[in-house]
Amino acid sequence: MNLLPGHPTPLPAILDQSPEALRAWFAERGQPALRVKQVRRWVLAGRAESFEQMSDLPRDVRAELAQQFSPLGTRIERHLIATDETHKLLLRLHDDRMIECVLIQEAPRRTACISTQVGCGMGCVFCASGLNGVVRNLTASEILEQLARLRNLTPAPDGRLTNVVVMGMGEPLANLDNLIEALEVAGHKDGLGIGARHITISTVGLPAKIRRLADLGKQYHLAVSLHAPNDLLRTRIVPTNDKTGIADILAAADDFFEKTGRQVTYEYVLLGGLNDSPREARELATLLQGRKAHVNLIPFNDVEGLPYTRPTPEALKRAGMSVKVRKRKGSEIDAACGQLRRKVEQEVASAV
Ligand code: SAH
Repeated sequence: MNLLPGHPTPLPAILDQSPEALRAWFAERGQPALRVKQVRRWVLAGRAESFEQMSDLPRDVRAELAQQFSPLGTRIERHLIATDETHKLLLRLHDDRMIECVLIQEAPRRTACISTQVGCGMGCVFCASGLNGVVRNLTASEILEQLARLRNLTPAPDGRLTNVVVMGMGEPLANLDNLIEALEVAGHKDGLGIGARHITISTVGLPAKIRRLADLGKQYHLAVSLHAPNDLLRTRIVPTNDKTGIADILAAADDFFEKTGRQVTYEYVLLGGLNDSPREARELATLLQGRKAHVNLIPFNDVEGLPYTRPTPEALKRAGMSVKVRKRKGSEIDAACGQLRRKVEQEVASAV
């Protein structure tokens, strides 16, 4: 579906070009291979959003680049800023699909929350991203570009992202190759300079992929969306649990901890009357006993049309667990996964 009939076909994004293809493009114009590095550095580290800004490239080369490529492949469809300085970008991709990413600023941290898929195939019953299923994986450059765009919102010239959480739309481990490719570039000093230790990958819990991630030998921080202490309840909340089961997920997460030495976080969205009673708290404490693990309680963010509510976390605290209730940031700009995209798509649908 073309939501904006008549807009020109976007030019191919520079980050989408392989270094080899770009090198050949420059060579055809008598330009040295060094130009590839220069152009990429301008976009990734130098905040350039136009070729004109790339002052160490010859003027005619800049003009020709501008005719054939675009520095960034996405367009900003909406840019919302909350009173707490949380920014949310709704980005339109080359195929008119939309994704969301968020910049959360809590000095000294500047955290980017990024998406890995258009939609999500996991179908967690309380989550806006999965309500219409998954459309496609994002490319590595579409993932990387969210980081560049969010970094460009930090104060120039030296503002940088300190942390990344892969907690936007989609299941990151279902698009692991593209995610890792993007994060590798992000970690590079000519990229965005964000090391693996400062990157959290949140997953619904795909055991084989968790093991693959562990085998990479990188220091990523893993967060597992548990949301329930037993399979019966978890399968009601997280339908994919039917095929995996909590035991396999915990075993894979233990493996990750063993191989990387990085403590795993278990996320638990509190849904009033569903998974928040003292009984579940005790069961969760027993389940995770003996593990060096951290529990992150997430207050449910209302999703229009869904019947869930936000309880208080007192029950879990009374059960004597080490808990941290995640702060709600940017709620007035629909900062939680998938909510803004949904709203804009519904607006467009009702306008047709
Ligand atoms: N697919 C990944 C990333 C999802 S988003 C995963 O399942 O972990 C990151 C976290 O936000 C997940 O724990 C997810 O369950 C949670 N989440 C999704 N929608 C939410 C909502 N409306 N309120 C609170 N947390 C939500």
